[in-house]
This record gives sequence, C-alpha cells and structure tokens, in this order.
Amino acid sequence: MDNIFAAWRKAVDFHGHECPGLAIGVRVVEAARVKMGITFAQDEEIVCVTENDACGVDAVQILTGCSLGKGNLIYRGTGKQAFTFFKRQTGEGLRIVLKPFGVEMERDQRQAYLLNADLEEIFDFKQPHFSLPPAARIFATQVCASCGEGVPEHKARLQAGKPVCLDCFQSYERGWS
Ligand SMILES: [Zn+2]
Ligand SMILES: [Zn+2]
Repeated sequence: MDNIFAAWRKAVDFHGHECPGLAIGVRVVEAARVKMGITFAQDEEIVCVTENDACGVDAVQILTGCSLGKGNLIYRGTGKQAFTFFKRQTGEGLRIVLKPFGVEMERDQRQAYLLNADLEEIFDFKQPHFSLPPAARIFATQVCASCGEGVPEHKARLQAGKPVCLDCFQSYERGWS
C-alpha cells in the first residue's frame, strides 16, 4: 500500500483507535517498503521480528501480513521500538529503530509528527545483530497425562515418564517451592 493515508485508515480500522504508537507502525511499514521493497506477505517469505508488543505491531500485522498466526511475526521482548524485517529468499535483513524524541510533544502533536516527518528523521536503519529465525514448524501433538488436553511436543514436559503440559508441570513445580 503506497498511499500513507490509505495505510493509516486501514491500520486505524484494525487497531480501533488513532495513537502515536500506531503511527510508528505505519511508518515502519513504509520504511520497509521504501528500503527493502516489502509489500504484503502471502506466506512466510517475509518475517518481522518486533521488539515490543505495543500499538505499532498492529499496523505491521494488517499492512505487511506478518502475523502471529502465520508464524512470520516473532516477538523478541527488549521493549524497544525496533522492528526487523527479513526476506527469507535472500536472507536480507534490516532493523528499523525509532530515534529517541529530542523534545516534549503533546500526544496529537507527536502523532502528526510521526506521520509526516521524513523517515530518516524518525528512524535509524541498522543491520540486525540476530539472524533470521527458522520457518514455522508443525509439531506432533501429545496428550497431557494429567489434564488430558492436547499439547504440541515441543511444549510438553516429562513427569514420572509421562508427557504433561506446562500448566500441569508448573503446578507440580510449585508444589515443591
Ligand atoms: Zn494504540
Ligand atoms: Zn495438563
């Protein structure tokens, strides 16, 4: 979506309200398009690693197709306003980091600034210092020996030689503390 206003409208519809955080996300998506030619991921060809779980992530999900459900949105919780895009085919990656604000601004003023300033003014562009995560995998399901709920193999734990889910394993651990 090359029109910033159309992108903003679409992001606001999805997110539910206008806010400076959403504006950051919309501009991040614009930067990914300008710098890397990223448009919309039908599958897992584009991966976004987000370092926060704030408003801007919703713009990234709706506008780039990088989503939690598809496995190509990965949360790496440093809490920073930083988003890294990878192209699976080429391994190309770019980390887009919001620059700290130099001045105090009201919420509306900050939102307008974030939507209108030059990309270079609001973001630093860096090489990612972590590598492209592996593609999403499908795991076999085990049945928890304690509660009977299905649990993917990589999340199961062994307890007395039987597979259990994390809920049941943790309640066992708590019993000893
Ligand atoms: Zn918001
Ligand atoms: Zn269980």
